[in-house]
Amino acid sequence: MSLVEKKTTIALRCPHCGRLESKEIHVFEFSGGQTLEVECSCGQQKAILARDSMQEYLVHYLCAICEGEHLLSLKNGEFWGELAVPINCPEASVRIGTIGSQEAVHNDDLYRDSLESLAEKLGGDDYFSNPAIMLDILDILQDMAMRGRVSCMCGSKDIQIDLYPDRLKLVCAECSGNLTIPAQYEEDLEDINCREGLFLARNIDGLRT
Ligand SMILES: [Zn+2]
Ligand SMILES: [Zn+2]
Ligand SMILES: [Zn+2]
Repeated sequence: MSLVEKKTTIALRCPHCGRLESKEIHVFEFSGGQTLEVECSCGQQKAILARDSMQEYLVHYLCAICEGEHLLSLKNGEFWGELAVPINCPEASVRIGTIGSQEAVHNDDLYRDSLESLAEKLGGDDYFSNPAIMLDILDILQDMAMRGRVSCMCGSKDIQIDLYPDRLKLVCAECSGNLTIPAQYEEDLEDINCREGLFLARNIDGLRT
């Protein structure tokens, strides 16, 4: 790879709106200045990338988990490399981003499972009526599911999620029983926040709806 083609991609969860956008960076963007700001489309500055005198790269980022600031130091070969390097919150040991080649970053689980990549597949950034609310509700549901608090009256805990612009639908993989959850307004978020868990009504006929 020649110098002029050098590029990398950074995907980082935004501490303000929660989006996990990815951004491609070219080596020429470092020419002139030594630092580069990475902003979310909501306007929040997420990170500052800097090249130091040792030709190492520093990723100084605002953390979406603990709201603190962290610093990641990468070798030249890691920063511009093919591999996906994780960006973590060291306080909580939670991953909030990835840096590496675009292919590696986009194939990474964190990005693939993100709402941004789902929206991309479903027809673009405007797919969801209110992406921030949808993301928050998805987070809460995943959390509930992980603690075994989402189940179907038939006894199954194998629940699938279908996403729509303004709602999501939980569907039981066993009996197709389902539950629709609105995910558009602040009230929808408050509503789900008050719940201890969710039960899907069993589908007596066992037919897909
Ligand atoms: Zn944002
Ligand atoms: Zn943190
Ligand atoms: Zn069921």
